[in-house]
Amino acid sequence: MKRMTGAEIRQSFLDFFASKNHVIVPSASLVPVGDPTLLLTNAGMNQFKNIFLGLEGPRHLRVADAQKCMRVSGHLNDLEMVGPSPYHQTFFEMMGNWSFGDYYKKEAIAWAWELVTEVWETEKTRLWATIFEDDAGDLPADEEALGHWLGQTDIPPDHVLRSGRKDNFWSMGTTGPCGPCSEIHYDRGLEFCERQGEPGHVCRVNGDCQRFLEIWNLVFIQYNRDADGVLKELPAKHIDTGLGLERTSLISQGVVSNYDTDLFLPILKRIQEMLGDSDDSAKAKWVPYRVIADHGRAVTFLVGDGVIPGNEGRNYVLRMILRRAARFGRKIGFAEPFLGEVAKAVIDTMGNHYQDLKRRREFILNVIRQEEERFQRTLDVGLVLLDEIMADLKEKGETVIAGSDAFRLYDTYGFPIDLTRDVGAEHGFTVDEKGFQVALDEQRARGRAAQQFVTADADELAVYVDLLEDLRRSGRLGPDGVEHPYDDFIEMESVVLGIVRDRKLTKRVKEGDDVEIVLAATPFYVESGGQVSDMGVLARYDEGKEQPRWEIEVLDVREPVPGLIVHVGRVTQGRPGVEEPVWAIVDATRRMDIARNHTATHLLHSELRYILGEHVQQAGSLVAPERLRFDFTHGAMLTQDELDEVEQSVNDAILANYPLEVEHTKYQRAVSAGAMALFGEKYGEEVRVIKIGIPGEPFSRELCGGTHVRQTGEIGLFRIVSEASVGAGVRRIEAVTGRAAQQLVQKRLGVLDAAATHLGTQPEEVERAVLRLMGELHDRQKEIAGLRRELAGLEYEKLLQEVQDVAGVRVLAARVQVADAELLREMTDWLRSRLGSVVIVLGAVIDEKPSFVAAVTPDLVDRGLKAGTLIQQVARVVGGGGGGRPTLAQAGGRDANRLDEALALVPKAVSSLLADPGA
Ligand SMILES: [Zn+2]
Ligand SMILES: [Zn+2]
Repeated sequence: MKRMTGAEIRQSFLDFFASKNHVIVPSASLVPVGDPTLLLTNAGMNQFKNIFLGLEGPRHLRVADAQKCMRVSGHLNDLEMVGPSPYHQTFFEMMGNWSFGDYYKKEAIAWAWELVTEVWETEKTRLWATIFEDDAGDLPADEEALGHWLGQTDIPPDHVLRSGRKDNFWSMGTTGPCGPCSEIHYDRGLEFCERQGEPGHVCRVNGDCQRFLEIWNLVFIQYNRDADGVLKELPAKHIDTGLGLERTSLISQGVVSNYDTDLFLPILKRIQEMLGDSDDSAKAKWVPYRVIADHGRAVTFLVGDGVIPGNEGRNYVLRMILRRAARFGRKIGFAEPFLGEVAKAVIDTMGNHYQDLKRRREFILNVIRQEEERFQRTLDVGLVLLDEIMADLKEKGETVIAGSDAFRLYDTYGFPIDLTRDVGAEHGFTVDEKGFQVALDEQRARGRAAQQFVTADADELAVYVDLLEDLRRSGRLGPDGVEHPYDDFIEMESVVLGIVRDRKLTKRVKEGDDVEIVLAATPFYVESGGQVSDMGVLARYDEGKEQPRWEIEVLDVREPVPGLIVHVGRVTQGRPGVEEPVWAIVDATRRMDIARNHTATHLLHSELRYILGEHVQQAGSLVAPERLRFDFTHGAMLTQDELDEVEQSVNDAILANYPLEVEHTKYQRAVSAGAMALFGEKYGEEVRVIKIGIPGEPFSRELCGGTHVRQTGEIGLFRIVSEASVGAGVRRIEAVTGRAAQQLVQKRLGVLDAAATHLGTQPEEVERAVLRLMGELHDRQKEIAGLRRELAGLEYEKLLQEVQDVAGVRVLAARVQVADAELLREMTDWLRSRLGSVVIVLGAVIDEKPSFVAAVTPDLVDRGLKAGTLIQQVARVVGGGGGGRPTLAQAGGRDANRLDEALALVPKAVSSLLADPGA
C-alpha cells in the first residue's frame, strides 16, 4: 500500500465514494440521538439503524462517511488492554459506505478492491478475502460473494477463503437485520509474526499472530431474524461496510502499532515535550504514554460532543476515562493538570476534519481542566480514607484491606482499585481482590437488570411499529409517516387513523378513557430541541352544531417511532372512533407563550456570545410556556452588571422588532455560513435555519426545528429570573417573557406599592424610606443595648449588696437572669473583679435547665476552697453535676425548681469546706 497520512486516507476514501455517486454525510455525534439502548456511538451504522429496521426511509440510497466511534465496555479488563495492546483504543474512526436497497455485493466488492489496489496501490499478492460458509451447516455458503471476488477482481483465486459464523456473519441483535460478511485482510509479511518457530504455529488469516490484519469488513444485510430465530430474506437488501482508519494508517505507514501512526505521534510527542523526557525514557514509559494519548482523544471528542463529566451513563464513562488518564499521568511525573495540553494536541491533529473541535476548543479545555482539578481533590479525600482504613487494620494486627472497603473507595470516591493496591503495598497491606470483584460483579448485575428494563421497552414499542407498518402498507401514510405541518397551522382537519388504549389497538373509546390517537396529519408540535410538546384538543364537529360530537383533551404529543405521531390524552366527551373526521386544535395561547420563549432563547444565546465572548456555547435548553431555561458554557458566575447588560440587549432586540426568517438549506452550507449547530442534535441533510435581524444581515442564525414569533416585538418583555452553575464550566439562566414577564413585573410592582403604602410614602421613595428606617432601627438597637448594659450594671450593684460573711470569707450566692452560660461566666468575672477575695456562685435557668458558675479567688483556694468541689455539692441538689478548675467551675442539672434551694446551700457548703478542706 502506498504511504499516506491518516488524513489522506480519510479524504481519499470519501472522495472515492463520492466519485461512485455516494452522498458524503458528516459523522454523527458520539451521543446517539433517539436511541435509548445505546450509551455511545460505537459503529458506523448506528445512525442508520432505523433504516435497517425499516422504521425510517433512507434520505439517500448511497452514503459514505467517516464516523467517530467509542467502545468502552464496562469490563475493566478491556480498558486495561488500552496501552499494552498495539491495536486497542477507546476512540476510533470508522470509514464506511452504505447502500440502502440500491447496489449490492457485486459493486461493494468491486469498489473495495478498486480503492485498495488502484487508488491505494496495495500489492495484490498481500491481500486476502474471506466469504461466509456456515460452520453450523444451516445457511447456504455465500457463493454469490465468491463469484464476484473471482469475477469482478483480479485477486489470486487461492486468496479467497471460507470462514464461519464467528468472523463472517453479522447480526444487529438477537432479532432483526443480519447477513454474511466478506472481509479483506492484509499480509504484513513473515517479519510481523511474533510466534515464528513456536511448534504448531501456522500464520494464517483470522489466525493467532500479528502477521495478517483485517482492514475492511463488507456486510451484506440479507435477512431478518424473527423472534423464533428463523431467517427470512429481506425484500430490500443493504450494504454496510467498515474500514478502520487507524488500522489502514498502520499498514500504509508500515508501522507495528496504531500508536506509531501519524494519528497518534503528534499527541505522544506533545506529552514527551511536556515531561521533558528523552527518547529513551519516553520509550520506557510507553504504556502510560499510549493510555494518555488514547484517553486524551476520547475525552476531547466526548466533551466536544457536549458530554460533561458525571456519575451516570456516558457522563460517567467520560469521568472514568479522564481520571484514568490523569492517574497514568501522575505515575509518569505530571504534578499539575496536563490533559488540557493533550486535548490541544488532539484538536490540532484532528480539528481540520472535525471542525466542531475547533469551534468548541475553549469549552473542551475548560471542562477538562475543571474535572482534572476536581479529581485531584477526590484523590486527596480517598487517600485520607485509605489511611484511616489502614490505621484501623494496623490496630487489629491485620494486613488485608477488605474488598468491600476497596469497592467503597472505588465506587463512592472514584478511587481506582490499582491505586488502593499500590498505596496499600507501600504500607505492607494487600487488597482482598476477590471480595472487590464480588462487590463489582454485584454492581454489574444491578446494571444489567437496569439494562434489561431498557430492552423491555422495545417490546412496548411493538404496537406502534405494527401500526405504522400497517398504515404504510395500506397507503394511509406515506413513507414520511404522519404529515406534520406544525409551523404552518395551529389547527387543521384530519382523520383518525389509529387509537391505542392500554397499549392495544382499539376501534372505539368512551368518555374518561386515557387514549393515544394517531391522525393522518397534525399541527401539534412534538417535543424536540428543548421545546415542549403542544397541548390542545381533538374534536369532531357535526355540521351546523356548536357542540362537538366528541372531544379529546391532548396533554402530550410523542413520536414513539419515527414517522408516527401520537396524541396522548383523555376523552372528555362522546365516543371517538377510527376513520372518523377530526379537527386537531392546538392551544394557541400556550403555543404563543412557547414561541415567545423560544425566540427569546435564540436572542439570549446570541447576546451572551456578544457580551461574554464566542466561547459561549449552548449546552442545553428548555422552552416551556411559562419560562425558558438556557444552559451554556462559561467559566465564571455572571456579575450583576453582565446580567443587566444581557437583559437590556435582549430587550433592545425585542424593541427593534426584527423579523424572523426561516430558511431550509443543506447542513454543511448552514454551518459554514455561521449557523450555530447544537450538541448532540441529529440533523438530516436538509436543515431549517432560523435567522433573526435585518434581512440579509441576521445577527442570529441557528439550526432549529422549533416554533417562533414572526417579529421579535411579539415577545413583549424579557426578564432574567435566575443565574446559577449546573456543573463544570456550565451556567444556567432562567428567564420569562411575554405574559409571564408582565405578571412578574406586575407582582413585583404590587409588592412595591404595598410597601410604599405601609411606609406612608411614594413607590419612588421606598428605598430611601427603608434606608431611613434601617438607620433608625440601628440607632434604637444601640440605645437598647446601652440601656440593657445600664440595667445589668444596676443588677450587678444589687448583687454586691448580697455578699455575706461566712467564717470571715466573703460569699456571694445569687440567682440571676441570663440567656446563656457565656453571660453567666462574664457576670461572674465582673463580680470577682469588683469584690477582691470572694467565693461566688451564680445560678440561672437557661433553656429550662438549672445552670451554675462558681468562682473562687486564689487566696481562698489556698485555704482549701475549690470551685469544682463546691459546685458539685451545689449541683447535686438539682440532680446534676459539673466540674472545672479550682478557681472556676461550671455545672448543670435537671430540676430547675430547686435552683434557689441549691443556692441557699452555698454558705453551709463553704463553711464545711473551710472546716474540712479534704471533703
Ligand atoms: Zn504467524
Ligand atoms: Zn431553537
